[in-house]
Amino acid sequence: RKYAAITGGTMSGLGKGTVISSLGWLLKALGLRVTVIKIDPYLNIDAGTMAPREHGEVYVLKDGAEVDLDFGNYERALNVTLTGDHSITAGKIYRQVIEKERKGEYLGRTVQLVPHVTDAVQDWIERIAEVPVDGKEGPPDICLIELGGTAGELESLVHLEALRCFSRRVGPENFALVHLGFVACTGDGEQKTKPTQQSIQVFVLAVKDICGLRVQVIQELRKSGLKADWVFRRSKQALGDAAREKIAHFGELPKEHVVSVHDVPNLYRVPLMLEEQNVGAFVCEVKIGIVGKYTRSSD
Ligand code: ADP
Repeated sequence: RKYAAITGGTMSGLGKGTVISSLGWLLKALGLRVTVIKIDPYLNIDAGTMAPREHGEVYVLKDGAEVDLDFGNYERALNVTLTGDHSITAGKIYRQVIEKERKGEYLGRTVQLVPHVTDAVQDWIERIAEVPVDGKEGPPDICLIELGGTAGELESLVHLEALRCFSRRVGPENFALVHLGFVACTGDGEQKTKPTQQSIQVFVLAVKDICGLRVQVIQELRKSGLKADWVFRRSKQALGDAAREKIAHFGELPKEHVVSVHDVPNLYRVPLMLEEQNVGAFVCEVKIGIVGKYTRSSD
């Protein structure tokens, strides 16, 4: 099984869900069968009890599960039918671990965030990634995982650790990590257009992201002799070449791993934007290693 996870830095609402849907759409167009899992670090069991003013309307899946609105985007973009189990919340994981503990299934061991909670997250992902969601027989080719919240937040840490362990569990050649960062355009119009100013902002934010999750991931992949993931960068304007170079340099990534997700008037342009930057082909051919197996299909 192949997996691609996306984490977000700097702040929420950057467009992780949009990127996942767009990436999935692209992979589907390349002939892959795609499924999606969303991990939310909150303690609510599901989105059914959460204020719509804050999180948007609850989305109801075919099996009756009440989930985050992002699921509506996934289902529409990828033409899949997901289940309540595709939504992993910290509430569900902790409940499962505590119920297991009460039944004595940990055989007297001290139950801890690492490894018991992190293992529960990984087992859940592995189990649900197998479930066909497109009406066809057999498991999907690739599972996209969105980690809700922001990398670096206290409550996300256990899930980041679970993803880090998961990369090792399934092998880094089967696990890709996309980190979506944000570059603010502060100041007046003139400043916004100054490439140097922009580069400095990019640099600062890139390093900040690196200080959070990315250093760990890069080191972890390096230990395994591999170093491959991406930084997606959301901003008002398209990412300039110098800025791309700088993020690549500080992220120790090839330039093609730095992807611009700038503002578009219509969200259906996001998959095209990714395609223009060769993201789909790159995921398939370089990271996921299925070159030659899949060809572009007309849909
Ligand atoms: P997250 O999953 O990080 O919370 P979403 O994918 O739900 O973020 O996106 C947050 C908002 O930003 C949505 O209203 C979405 O329509 C908008 N958005 C996302 N990406 C873009 C983009 N490239 N251009 C314009 N709007 C975008």
